[in-house]
Amino acid sequence: MQPWAVGGASQWWLHHALRDLAASIEGLGGQLSFQIGEPLSELRKLTQLTGASAVFWNRRYEPASIDQDSDVKAALREDGLEVCSFNSRLLFEPWEVQNGSGDPYRVFTPFSKNILKNPLPAPESVRLNDAKWFQAKSAGVALDDLKLLPKIQWDSGMSEMWDPTREGAMKQLERFLAGAVETYHDDRDIPSVTGTSALSPYLNWGQIGPREIAAHLEGKRERTGGRIYFSEILWREFAYHILFHFPHTTDQPLQEKYAQFPWQNSPDDLEAWKRGRTGYPIVDAGMRQLWATGWMHNRVRMVVASLLVKHLLLPWQEGAKWFWDTLIDADLASNSLGWQWAGGCGADAAPYFRIFNPIIQGKKFDTDGDYVRRWVPELARVPAKFIHCPWEASEIQLRAWGVTLGDNYPYPIIEHSAGRDRALNALQELKKVTNG
Ligand code: FAD
Repeated sequence: MQPWAVGGASQWWLHHALRDLAASIEGLGGQLSFQIGEPLSELRKLTQLTGASAVFWNRRYEPASIDQDSDVKAALREDGLEVCSFNSRLLFEPWEVQNGSGDPYRVFTPFSKNILKNPLPAPESVRLNDAKWFQAKSAGVALDDLKLLPKIQWDSGMSEMWDPTREGAMKQLERFLAGAVETYHDDRDIPSVTGTSALSPYLNWGQIGPREIAAHLEGKRERTGGRIYFSEILWREFAYHILFHFPHTTDQPLQEKYAQFPWQNSPDDLEAWKRGRTGYPIVDAGMRQLWATGWMHNRVRMVVASLLVKHLLLPWQEGAKWFWDTLIDADLASNSLGWQWAGGCGADAAPYFRIFNPIIQGKKFDTDGDYVRRWVPELARVPAKFIHCPWEASEIQLRAWGVTLGDNYPYPIIEHSAGRDRALNALQELKKVTNG
């Protein structure tokens, strides 16, 4: 199997996105053909069947995809075909943006300044109305044969929350531009409100592109909300820049010394984290939102990642793998960057010694506890004062709210200051073995 093969939740999205794409191609008079097999031989079969003289595709940037696509390109060219690849995923190709010395960037701010000093590329418009379509009903397999949908039905939460179609992307963009973008800078950190665009899965699956978003933001980027929103689009661009120039960062830290970090091996802690049973309500809410909907709010992604790599001392790669399988927006570039940011070992990462306090994070960003109540129903009756620290309430109070700690809701998996001290000691150990 290819490394980082599409994870379970993403397969669900891909199935529906392909169905939507097939329907729109049919609407134009064509037919989307699905093939199963080794890409080069399948493409050769198709070009022979159709008599095509050229093959075009959009570029991919994951290390294994680059290798595969380069080999296919060379082989098809040897066959005498015209082969062209294009950029649909990014504003600029990762190799087009360089620092003053001609090297890749490792820090976000100068990278984004460099991008913003040039005019942004406009989206390409492709006219397919007068395309000639080859009718080859027998050429491929059915979408269902790709077996992308789960065998056991765990996808109802995703179906309720998402419309994984191009129309769904445009509706989401319209909703965001009609209101939330203006207050994005304030609301984007509050997980109980719809303050962000929730466009990440559409961007990930190519149902909308960053150039299209940039064009729609024209006139809004001068104001704070639009400007800060666009800088998040540039973080995505930065993630691809790092992935392309440092392809090992999918599995290895960019800051090499962190390869020697004294991680723990605790399958029980990892399992409790995955299942949303750490005893820290904001963390558990996030992990359960992820499981139910295939998506998690960015602020909460940072908090849950911090708890895993700091309080629990578990390797960031374990968290990245779980996100990879459960996120509908699982994107190797942004996921690797996000996890290395949390682990203090990546490009422009939060220093490892800065340790989020999950109680304070909860109180600050989910002050009334609405987000926790939504995703952790055991705590639904706990008042705001205790919702992020139920263990501080008396047993009588807890009983009145239907909570028995250690029974229907866990005690904290590790006490905050003990977890913090353990993480800082681990950092000291690393410093000893790496001399700094
Ligand atoms: P908005 O706030 O509306 O932002 C707009 C777009 O900007 C997003 O759709 C996304 O494409 C991009 N963006 C926003 N924040 C980031 C960021 N920090 N890094 C890169 N791009 C960003 N994002 C993914 O798309 N796929 C992932 O697999 C992924 N894994 C992550 C893992 C960790 C540990 C962390 C901390 C973050 C991760 N992110 C990932 C980034 C971020 O959490 C999501 O992009 C964001 O929550 C998506 O929601 P949104 O579309 O409402 O974002």
